[in-house]
Amino acid sequence: HEEEPVTPDDQRDKFIGGLLSPSFDKESCLSRYQSALLRKASPHLPSSYLIAKLRKYEELHKRCGPYTALYHKSIIQLNSGKSIELMDCNYLVWSPFNGLGNRMLTIASAFLYAVLTNRVLLIYQTEDMVDLFCEPFPDSSWILPPNFPIKNLTKLRQGSEISYGNMLKNKKINSTDSSALLPAYAYLHLEHDYQHLDRLFFCEEHQVVLQKINWLVLQSDIYFVPGLFLVPQFEDELGWMFPAKETVFHHIGRYLFHPTNTVWGLITRYHTAYLARSDEKIGVQVRVFSRYPITPENYLKQILMCSRQANLLPEISMNGALNLTKSKMKPKAVLITSLSSVYSEKLKSMYYEHNTVTGETVTINQPTHESQQQTENQYHNQKALAEMFLLSYCDVLITSGWSTFGYIGQALAGLKPWILLTPRDQKPADPPCTRAVSMEPCFQVPPTYDCKAKKNADFGALVQHLTHCEDVERGIKLV
Ligand code: GDP
Repeated sequence: HEEEPVTPDDQRDKFIGGLLSPSFDKESCLSRYQSALLRKASPHLPSSYLIAKLRKYEELHKRCGPYTALYHKSIIQLNSGKSIELMDCNYLVWSPFNGLGNRMLTIASAFLYAVLTNRVLLIYQTEDMVDLFCEPFPDSSWILPPNFPIKNLTKLRQGSEISYGNMLKNKKINSTDSSALLPAYAYLHLEHDYQHLDRLFFCEEHQVVLQKINWLVLQSDIYFVPGLFLVPQFEDELGWMFPAKETVFHHIGRYLFHPTNTVWGLITRYHTAYLARSDEKIGVQVRVFSRYPITPENYLKQILMCSRQANLLPEISMNGALNLTKSKMKPKAVLITSLSSVYSEKLKSMYYEHNTVTGETVTINQPTHESQQQTENQYHNQKALAEMFLLSYCDVLITSGWSTFGYIGQALAGLKPWILLTPRDQKPADPPCTRAVSMEPCFQVPPTYDCKAKKNADFGALVQHLTHCEDVERGIKLV
């Protein structure tokens, strides 16, 4: 029998204010009801409307999910080659693309789109995704059955014959003729390279067409939730579900993503051994992209400049002895996540060789240093997931701009991180970092076309609850 984590406050709500259905078996997925207990209780409660929507979605998923009679009926419809009005169940099939952070952002976006359009979300699970997440919906499965008739899902690309944009281009779909026959399925290409026709997804009149296509397949690597707020027919529902707009991923992410017991083992062993005993946990997520190169020495400089600006890590002192009364205080725990071990090695030496000016002690902790991204490797992804969750148990965060890995940590935590700005010419950015305006992930490649006005628009400047991202100038995020 596994013990539940000890909480100072036994009023702590493991169902997260009703966000989680209580009808799961606890042992099969320990993280589901334990994870919330490792965080300070979130001040953001889910709305009762959101909770009702989720319970309703769970019923739909159970009724239409894999291996049900209605699912079989829909497979027959899919094989018939055309969409049929008034089917009992309609589906959204998610197919993986890019790193795990990107994937989690797009699963959450897909789920919200499914909820808004009464579709059932099914996940095409490639080998590298096995044993990462528990099933999120009771008495059913979200995994696409292996004998699904559409093959080569991961080969879908921009311009694929069945992509919505391509079908518009070839006049196989006509958004103005409501009586036209529609194909059995369409592919939504919402990857960072998507072009005008695929971006019409965010227009009302095209949502009206998509609503009539029984099966949609989606491949994406961007957090497109802010774009759903641009579609007039979703506006009211979204407003009721999320009265606080910056909490979308915070709620949806904690609802959907529960690490499997294997990953939960990594998380809890590490948390208990290295982090749990500190009163303050500072997460530093270090991610260097090859398109914005910088030496580790310079990036560490930038991190330390940021820490000074934000007053996070205790400064070191060049003289003076350890203050023994203060040294009895619990150490501050710093959690570093990075593909490289350089940052934690240097920080460890820094705090080993010097006292801090405050007299506090500091532990530097880094679970892995995997050298390179290996998204096709399942064990590598399990470790990445564990680290995103460990970041989400921190009290403050420094994250790297542009990184979806960091977005997941911050939004699950419910924190506005200090975002390290993009280095230029291999030099530390100046200013080194900026405080996020909201905990939401950034929609890095948003549409720029105003469907109603039929001209280009800057939604980050135009729409009240949207703003430009701190790290990605052209991006937009919910506030
Ligand atoms: P992004 O590229 O930063 O937006 O984040 P993604 O998660 O989409 O892709 C980066 C991938 O590289 C991760 O999923 C991991 O596979 C790997 N990776 C990057 N940083 C880390 C890290 O700090 N720890 C671990 N374990 N893996 C990392």
